[in-house]
Amino acid sequence: MRFKGKKVLVTGGAGFIGSHLAEKLLKRGDEITIIDNLSTGSINNISHLMHNPSFDYVIDTIMNQGLMSWLIRKCDIVYHLAAAVGVKLIVEKPIDVIFTNIIGTEIVLRLASKENKKVLITSTSEIYGKSEKIPYSENDDRVLGPTTKSRWSYSSSKAVDEYMALSYFKQKKLDVIITRLFNTIGPKQTGMYGMVIPRFVNQALHNEPITVYGDGKQTRTFCHVKDTIGALIALTQNPKASGEIFNIGSEEEISIKNLAKLVKEITNSKSKIIHIPYDEAYEVGFEDMKHRVPDISKIKKFIGYEPKTNLKEALISISKYLKKTL
Ligand code: UDP
Repeated sequence: MRFKGKKVLVTGGAGFIGSHLAEKLLKRGDEITIIDNLSTGSINNISHLMHNPSFDYVIDTIMNQGLMSWLIRKCDIVYHLAAAVGVKLIVEKPIDVIFTNIIGTEIVLRLASKENKKVLITSTSEIYGKSEKIPYSENDDRVLGPTTKSRWSYSSSKAVDEYMALSYFKQKKLDVIITRLFNTIGPKQTGMYGMVIPRFVNQALHNEPITVYGDGKQTRTFCHVKDTIGALIALTQNPKASGEIFNIGSEEEISIKNLAKLVKEITNSKSKIIHIPYDEAYEVGFEDMKHRVPDISKIKKFIGYEPKTNLKEALISISKYLKKTL
């Protein structure tokens, strides 16, 4: 039978979002190769895919240009998800974050341009910095703190990625789509790099204190990974999305304090909810953003995007998943 799917390369494919994406694309009949250096990803995330003849994995870094050149040559499309992520990691290992994010993406864009391949890059809502506007639209100004606060290096490194992608689109006609992912959650996400939901659910399941940083009045929206990857795939199928930037996230806003209460209720936990000052949680002078809500009208217009899983349902599925790993 003739192969009708696409040959897809997923960088960061053993990560939380990358492994969900690889699984979904495989189900659609695509042929997938993932590359991941397992720095924040895990082989456990892809072990269930390894028996599939349409799935291949390479454990190496995207900085290996010879390898990347070969991988990109033999694919039709690249989903570039490899990146150093997580606020805790950014504060603890700023060099890794800056170099992986800027040099890694430069390699992907340059080689994709040379081989004339379509690319989707994943940027971040951190791009908007600490702007207090609600909601954030793609063309909004960015508001960042000083360079002495390492958190902003992540936002800046991803902004360089966006500039590079837009420049390749403009100057070399590279078929590239830029997505800004807002807080994304789901099974397989680890709390090791600071992400609040797996941390809270784990704490609640162990009846340990749930650690709210600051006064807990800061708000976020959380999008289930199924909705995120559905949007990534749909965007690559819309030729008009090329050269465009899209927010991807949920509009259901919740304060971190109320999130702690909700997690406690859903898991039926005896945990206490405690507050930890930012200086202790991260580093002295750490700056957080008060609110972060995406304007999703642009992606709605392009692909009819509508997140389907609400926060409560997502928390129930995460709690079920984490219970099994206890
Ligand atoms: N947070 C918290 N307790 C934790 C981990 C995170 O209160 O154990 C807070 C964090 O300070 C931020 C929010 O939860 O205000 C979301 O944090 P996360 O690192 O998941 O994502 P961010 O939105 O900061 O990128």
